[in-house]
Amino acid sequence: MIHMHRMRRSAVLALLFSIAAATAAIAQSPTAYRISFPAPEHHYAEVEVTFTSAPATLEARMSRSSPGRYALHEYAKNVFEVRAVDGKGKVLPITRPNPYQWNVTGHDGTVRITYKIFGNHVDGTYLGIDSTHAHMNIPATFMWARGFDMRPVRVTFVQPAGSNWRVATQLFPTDDPWTFTAPNFQYFMDSPTEMSDFGVRSFKVKNPDGKEFTIITAVHHDGPDSALDEYVAGTEKIVREQGAIFGEFPEFDGGTYTFLGDYVPWGGGDGMEHRNSTVVASPTSFKNPQMVRAAMGTVSHEFFHAWNVERIRPKTLEPFNFEEANMSGEMWIAEGFTQYYGGLVMGRAGLRPADQTMLGLANSALGVATHPARQFRSVVQMSQYAPFSDAARSVDETNASYSFISYYTYGSALALAMDLELRARSNGKLSLDHYMQAMWKTHGKPGGAQPGLVAKPFTQDDARDRLAEVSGDSAFARDFFARFVEGREAPDYAKLLAPAGIVVRKRSAGAPWTGLQMDRQNAATVGGLVPFGTPAFEAGLEEGDVLTSIDGVAFTALAAALKDRKPGDKLAIEFRRPSGAVVKSTLTLGEDPGLQAATIESTGGTLTPEQKAFRESWLGSKAKQ
Ligand SMILES: [Zn+2]
Repeated sequence: MIHMHRMRRSAVLALLFSIAAATAAIAQSPTAYRISFPAPEHHYAEVEVTFTSAPATLEARMSRSSPGRYALHEYAKNVFEVRAVDGKGKVLPITRPNPYQWNVTGHDGTVRITYKIFGNHVDGTYLGIDSTHAHMNIPATFMWARGFDMRPVRVTFVQPAGSNWRVATQLFPTDDPWTFTAPNFQYFMDSPTEMSDFGVRSFKVKNPDGKEFTIITAVHHDGPDSALDEYVAGTEKIVREQGAIFGEFPEFDGGTYTFLGDYVPWGGGDGMEHRNSTVVASPTSFKNPQMVRAAMGTVSHEFFHAWNVERIRPKTLEPFNFEEANMSGEMWIAEGFTQYYGGLVMGRAGLRPADQTMLGLANSALGVATHPARQFRSVVQMSQYAPFSDAARSVDETNASYSFISYYTYGSALALAMDLELRARSNGKLSLDHYMQAMWKTHGKPGGAQPGLVAKPFTQDDARDRLAEVSGDSAFARDFFARFVEGREAPDYAKLLAPAGIVVRKRSAGAPWTGLQMDRQNAATVGGLVPFGTPAFEAGLEEGDVLTSIDGVAFTALAAALKDRKPGDKLAIEFRRPSGAVVKSTLTLGEDPGLQAATIESTGGTLTPEQKAFRESWLGSKAKQ
């Protein structure tokens, strides 16, 4: 724990709390919450919530989903000791129509519900309470009521006795340093809150129109002051570099954006985007400077979301549904383009070497181009699979290992293709930065009626139309979307990467390939599901089968069996099923489809001045620092 800010506590409080909130006069009385932590070491909180002007049957619920997460999470499971009284303190009956809901009737218009909630999981989705902090994701912590979506919210956080905990949040401050507000339900749910003895730094950014915003880093960590300084220096480079991509910062509500950092070995790892804040966490120690640098990749990804997904928002996610899983066919833009820029900006900000940056993006795209899953699902369908893949758990087995590619990776691969294509078609005048600016101007910048709402979310057709606008070529935009987005084709990366002086080669040209992955403990046993269409699949091999002989020779290891073989060779194989049945078959070897990117210099070629200029324009800093 660090105590470096105790001397300056009043200054910190002023910084965090005295920024006037731009909230309009409130007509309806707010839904009022109070949360306290009688014994944080036991990982629970006590919550009291008061609903006024309640309907005859008040339907109080715990969320089943959380903004930025796409699988269902049953937060109701950690709620216990629920009670309800009315405005006069009369105890009210509670019924349970479903696992997530508490119905309250017989009240006088006011319903006050109290409950305890357990939480011991620090990340961007759950509630984590221990003796050092209370890390609150709002859907995981607070009960709400149906029909109260447009009512304002007021929350009072109670400081545990004897603690130095303070509050960091994107919720709007009030005159009381422990009480905050949200203009509506969506904004409240989107406002994770960290209470701890965190370290704080801040810096300002300015838009071309002169508006200034304060970027706050509130970081709960175990390292020295210098670690936080280095963290903030890296964060500032990233923030300015991303501002340069869009040409301006979003008008952060209340004038501030807050990084809620949690870097303690007993915490969790995550990054979760919100409108005016992000949770960035890693179960590491800032006593190790290496870990400070390692944290920057997540900072870069999450801050890009302040534009892309928080404001340039898929229509399929607006408004976010807290009762169901949220499915979006546009996750490849929301997460994939963010993934691409997260990496690219690390290079532009000088936090990652240029070669590593471009080869990382290129090799990730080549992995998509050669992945067996592309034959089953388009990137839109991969996006729609998010409720089953994004921090989702299943008891039964799936075949996602070969039928699913993450929309982060797939979307990043398409961002790379779109970027390189725009650059090549325009002789370097256009790039994906211009595409993001167009998405921003039409869909992000117009904002919403209230903080937390987005007025002009985009559809897949909008995303295609913006590409037509930027490129000035609607046939190109139609073709790109038809083949690579709705279709399952992969862009020609070898051609696209050539102007950057990147060569694409077969990973192991001429080497025999089976598509098999053997068990690590027992090299004769097939170790994973065998992907469709591979030589091993065609030979009838499947996970759990034990190879006994190849071409009459007792099997020992795959590498030994394939030595001196070549693609096209037919091998007589014998294997034993888990049932004990012995199978004889023929394995026809293929060639490893894997591709690899390398700089032209590393392959003995020469980088031309044009290629050098292309790299500079692609990977060079855009920020005026
Ligand atoms: Zn993301």
